[in-house]
Amino acid sequence: MKRNVCVAKCCMFTLACLFFVSVSAQEKVYPEPEKMTPGMSEFWVPQPPVVQPGDQYTITAPSDAIVLFDGTGLNAWKSSKDGSEAKWTVKNGAFTVAARTGDIETKQHFNSFQLHIEWTSPVEVKGTSQGRGNSGIFLQGMYEVQVLDCYDNETYSNGQTGSIYKQARPLANAMRKPGEWNVYDIIYEAPTFKEDGTYRTNPTVTVIHNGVVLLNHTTIVGTTEYIGFPKVVPHGAGPIKLQDHGNPVSFRNVWIREL
Ligand code: MG
Repeated sequence: MKRNVCVAKCCMFTLACLFFVSVSAQEKVYPEPEKMTPGMSEFWVPQPPVVQPGDQYTITAPSDAIVLFDGTGLNAWKSSKDGSEAKWTVKNGAFTVAARTGDIETKQHFNSFQLHIEWTSPVEVKGTSQGRGNSGIFLQGMYEVQVLDCYDNETYSNGQTGSIYKQARPLANAMRKPGEWNVYDIIYEAPTFKEDGTYRTNPTVTVIHNGVVLLNHTTIVGTTEYIGFPKVVPHGAGPIKLQDHGNPVSFRNVWIREL
């Protein structure tokens, strides 16, 4: 009899414990997810090796290219903000970011393409890291290939010249000195989408900077975000968009071939 009472007490104690554990689990309060800050998507190491590019070169537009800037005017471009005339400065066969007038973009939209664009960082070196000679080339208006004065200017590797900003670090740093002309040849393959709006095939990009491959058929995983992670946003053909980051970066000899 005494043994039966003992067994009953044990069972009740076990049930009480299970109940307590069950209630505790239901009432457990998890902490709020940490709020994303810009630094959380910056990666500083490894830094791409510095490569001295070969001699200066330029290539004029092939016969089937669409010329987006021939040195004379910004007729092929408009303000991204309101579609009005592009307000950047045209001088000596180049055009320069007019700070705080906003991004500009091509009137024409493109799918997959080969883009040639030459650019130079301001001769007067100002600022550090992302504050020095910053602009950018947005492929289909969505995905930024970084333009930055990375000559003797340390910054996070996935934000360097030729990175897919905050996604893919470049394989090398082939930057010329401020005031010297850099050449980008960008081969871009546009994404395709499923009916649910996710990628069927991701966009990919190859970036050659002054004859040096920085990105080699690199997969783009989503939109360019300053804070947080890339997002997948369905889109069709889009413009080439250039960024006004407040620094007087100049561009020249811009042409594109549709693929
Ligand atoms: Mg930029």
